Amino acid sequence: MSGKRGIVIVGGGTAGWLAAAYLARVFDGRVAVTLLESSEIGIIGVGEGAFPTIRSTLQFLGIDESRFIRAASATFKQGIRFDDWLHAATPEGERHRYLHPFEAPFYTEGTSLVPYWLLQDHATRPPFADAMTIQNRVAEAQRAPKRPGEGDYAGPLNYAYHFDAARLAEVLRARAVELGVRHLEGKLTRVDQAEDGSIARVHTAEHGALEGDLYLDCSGFRAELIGKTLGTRLKSVKHQLFTERALACKLPYGSPDAPIESFTVATAHPAGWTWDIGLQGARGIGCVYSSAHMDDAEAAEILRGYIGHDDYSARIIPFEPGYRETQWVKNCVAVGLAGGFLEPLESTGIVLIEAAVAMIADFYPHHGRADASARRFNQLMTARYETIINFLKLHYCLSRRDEPFWRDNRNTASIPEALQALLEAWRHRPPSRFDFLVDLESFAFFNYQYILYGMDFRTDLSGARADFPDMAGAEKLFARIRSFGARATEDLPTHRALIRQINEGASLGA
Ligand code: FAD
Repeated sequence: MSGKRGIVIVGGGTAGWLAAAYLARVFDGRVAVTLLESSEIGIIGVGEGAFPTIRSTLQFLGIDESRFIRAASATFKQGIRFDDWLHAATPEGERHRYLHPFEAPFYTEGTSLVPYWLLQDHATRPPFADAMTIQNRVAEAQRAPKRPGEGDYAGPLNYAYHFDAARLAEVLRARAVELGVRHLEGKLTRVDQAEDGSIARVHTAEHGALEGDLYLDCSGFRAELIGKTLGTRLKSVKHQLFTERALACKLPYGSPDAPIESFTVATAHPAGWTWDIGLQGARGIGCVYSSAHMDDAEAAEILRGYIGHDDYSARIIPFEPGYRETQWVKNCVAVGLAGGFLEPLESTGIVLIEAAVAMIADFYPHHGRADASARRFNQLMTARYETIINFLKLHYCLSRRDEPFWRDNRNTASIPEALQALLEAWRHRPPSRFDFLVDLESFAFFNYQYILYGMDFRTDLSGARADFPDMAGAEKLFARIRSFGARATEDLPTHRALIRQINEGASLGA
C-alpha cells in the first residue's frame, strides 16, 4: 500500500477482524483498510462468551443474526450462574448458587423494587435475581430468550451469545472482506520507525512493506507493535486479580438432544473457578486458577473432577492480568489482547475491543496529528479497565470461602480503594446509577446489585423502613414478576429447540 489515508491492522483474531469490519463499515471505502495475519502463528482461539453489546455491533456490521448463529456455532447467553462462590459445598452437599442475568431488574416509573426486597425477611425472601426479573426463571428452565420471527437482534429479554471463538473470527473476516478490507496472509518481520518514533512502515516477507497513517496492533499477546516496537509497559494487576492461567478443553454432549444451558456456569474451586459454556455441538470447559495458590497438576485434577472422566485433551493458556495505560502511541493503537487482558470472568475481552474500535472510528486522524485524541483514548480505556477490575474483584472479595486464595482475595490490600469506598456506601444503600459514569462503564449499577445480593451482601435499610411505605404495592409487583415468569417459561421454546430451528433454516428476522 502506498501513501496516506490507510489503516494497517496487524493480526487476524477477533480483535483484528472486528476492527477491520467496523472501520470498513464506518469509512465505506474512503479509508483503505488492510489486514495482515499469519496462519502459521494462528489465533488464541479461546473466548467463547460475549456481552449483550455484541448484538448492536453485529447488527451495525450488517450480519444477519440467524446466519451468524449458524456460522459461529453460536448459542444464546442470558447471563452467568455462579456456583459455590459464597461458600464451598458443605459436607451435607448444600451448595450456593446465584444468577447474574443480563436483563435489568424490573423497574416501574419512580419505583425501584430493590429497597423493598432488602426490607423483606432475609431468611424467607426469594433470591434477588429471582425476585427482580423473569429471566432467572426462563434461563433456569433452559428456555431461549426469544422466538423465531421476533426480529434480528431483538427479543423480550436481554441476551448475548456463546460461540466457537475461531468461527467468530471467520464470520467477521468474511464480512470484513465483503466490506472491502484487503486481506493479506503473511508474517510481520520488521518495523521501521520515523524520527519522531511513530511507525513508518511494517515489513512482511510475502508482501514487502505496508504503509498507512494509522496502525492497529491486534497481534494478541505478542504485542508486535505496541510492546515489542514501541515498548509501552503492561501494568500488571496480579496483586488485585490473582488468576493467570487457564486449562481449556471441549467436551461433546452426551446426546444430540442434551439440553443447552443459556448461561455460562462459573463454578468456584479452591484457587479460582471453572467455566462451562454450552455451544451447539460441545461444551467449552476451562479451569482458571492462580499459580501462586495451585500448581498445574492440581488444576488438571480440578478439571478432571469437574468433568468426571479423563477422555479429553486440555491446553494450558498462561496470561498476565493487566493492561497498557498507553494503548495509543503516536500512530499506533493496540486493540484486544495486545492492549491488555484481565481474566475470563464476565467475558470482558470483546467488550473492550468494541469500546476501543468505536473510539478509533471517531478519533481517526483525518487531518494528521492525533496526540489529543490519543490522550483521550488512553484516559478512557484506562478508566474502563479500572472499573472492570473493580467489578471483577467484587465477585471474589465477597466470598466467605476459607481457602488461602479466597482469604487473600478478602485482604483489604488487594481490593482497589475505589471498590472499598463503594462497598462502604453500599452498606447503607443499594448501588445507584450515580455511582458510575455511564459512558465509561461496561457494567451498570444493576449488574453490581446482582453480584452483591447474589453473594448475600447486607445493605441495612432497617432504619429507613418508613421511607419505603408501599410494601403492599411492591408485593403486587413481585407477584406479577412471578406470574409473567411462569407464562414466559411456557411460551418460549427450549434453548436446544430454537438452535435446532435456526440450523434448519428458521429466520429470527421479523
Ligand atoms: P489473537 O486471537 O491471539 O490474534 C492475534 C493475531 O495476530 C493472529 O491472527 C496472529 O496470527 C496475528 N499475529 C501475531 N503476530 C503476528 C506477526 N508477527 N505477523 C502477522 N500476524 C501476527 N474474551 C471474551 O470476550 N469472552 C471470553 O469468554 C473470553 N475468555 C477468555 C479466556 C481466556 C483463557 C483468555 C486468555 C482470553 C479470553 N478472552 C475472552 C479474551 C479473548 O480471547 C480475546 O479478547 C479475543 O480472542 C481477541 O484476541 P486477539 O484478536 O486480540 O488475539
